[in-house]
Amino acid sequence: MDFDPSDVFGAAGDFFLLGEAAARNFNDDASSQDPESASSAAKKSDLRSIPEREAERLENLRQKQLGDIAKMATLPNREIHEGFMKEAIAMADLALRSDETPVGCVFVHKGEIIGRGMNHTNKTLNGTRHAEFVALAEILQTHAPAILKETDLYVTVEPCIMCASALRQFNIRCVYFGCFNDRFGGTGGVLRIHEDENVDPPYPAFPGIFRDDAIMLLRKFYIQENEKAPEPKQKKTRELKTEIIPLDLSKV
Ligand SMILES: [Zn+2]
Repeated sequence: MDFDPSDVFGAAGDFFLLGEAAARNFNDDASSQDPESASSAAKKSDLRSIPEREAERLENLRQKQLGDIAKMATLPNREIHEGFMKEAIAMADLALRSDETPVGCVFVHKGEIIGRGMNHTNKTLNGTRHAEFVALAEILQTHAPAILKETDLYVTVEPCIMCASALRQFNIRCVYFGCFNDRFGGTGGVLRIHEDENVDPPYPAFPGIFRDDAIMLLRKFYIQENEKAPEPKQKKTRELKTEIIPLDLSKV
């Protein structure tokens, strides 16, 4: 299981709530500075409580996410991207009907879909069978890896840290995704592997295409899972919430 149901139903009503995996403290004071300023930075940071520093880190993360979505909103040819994302959603829908976490993707090379994938971790009991890995395995059966340099990925949920790293190693050209994955995301949800300057070349990642559909598929899945549980949760928690809080891009 990739995601915790409680996250999708979380109070934010929006992507996933941050969990332990994401709740590390990336305090960037101190380490790469001269000893004097490092020490004063450390003192300064010590004055703030951990919740305060965490709140600031989350706010920075959130602002970057909104900036990414705003960039996507200005991209030309939106209808082309939406067309491919619909194909990815169809794969996520198939995953839902197959009792797999509904995440789907397509890889597009020169306007043609060269690979499709859906999450396949439950039936295989293999936590690495994410939609992206499934599609990549299919593509590499008939193509040389170099094709990925001219290939774009459309995936309903942000690539996780593992997939974001693999995509970078394969030199993917660009990634478009629906909703963020605030627990395991590797392209802005938690880490920003796609643009880390220590590895090259980076790839751009654009979130927000059919974000609501991606979130609703996940919510439907967890309703389904709860109903199958040996001791189903109270009916109240099984209700499908349809409200998705819109993102406020006005301050980006
Ligand atoms: Zn993944």
